[in-house]
Amino acid sequence: MNRLLSAIAFAAHKHRDQRRKDLVASPYINHPIGLANVLANEAGIEDERVLIAAVLHDTIEDTETTELELVREFGKEVTDIVMEVTDDKTLSKADRKRLQIEHAGTISRRAKVVKLADKICNLRDIANSPPADWSLGRKQEYFDWAKAVVDGLRGVHPALEHIFDETYKLRP
Ligand code: NDP
Ligand code: ZN
Repeated sequence: MNRLLSAIAFAAHKHRDQRRKDLVASPYINHPIGLANVLANEAGIEDERVLIAAVLHDTIEDTETTELELVREFGKEVTDIVMEVTDDKTLSKADRKRLQIEHAGTISRRAKVVKLADKICNLRDIANSPPADWSLGRKQEYFDWAKAVVDGLRGVHPALEHIFDETYKLRP
């Protein structure tokens, strides 16, 4: 519990000036907390490393946080999970999207679980509070891409995969 709370405090600080892309520009930290909430309270996952990695999952990708900083604060196991779900931002968006599909099956079980929660939360956001300027086609494209990623990692957590499938039914 204490380690999870320090991860929430750490992520809240790192994302403090960022907002989600929805119309009201929600605080960014709602999203990492949302992943941990889905994992713990909808899928019944108690693995502390998974919950902490979920809270930290966008710190490397979207803030100036370094891998070394995460290792020092939260240890190598948690950091490795975060790194496995972090896109290489030197690549084009199209390459990052393609690589997520290609790599989904090769990452660790814990990273797959975090990735599933990320896709569940982003699909729910697109269904309920989408980026203001997204067309219908772009929303549909995102749903289909997320499903392609998830189809590449199935067999890791049936209950969480079921939650994803129920969420996919929200496809606009
Ligand atoms: P972005 O990567 O720009 O945005 C999606 C990401 O934004 C999510 O994965 C999520 O990432 C984050 N996010 C923040 N707020 C929200 C929110 N409210 N709802 C959902 N996600 C949110 O967009 P795309 O994934 O679409 O990537 C760009 C691609 O889109 C291009 O490769 C291009 O091919 C395509 N495109 C399609 C268009 C069309 O009209 N069909 C038009 C333009 C581009 P996180 O969890 O990491 O924060
Ligand atoms: Zn995310």
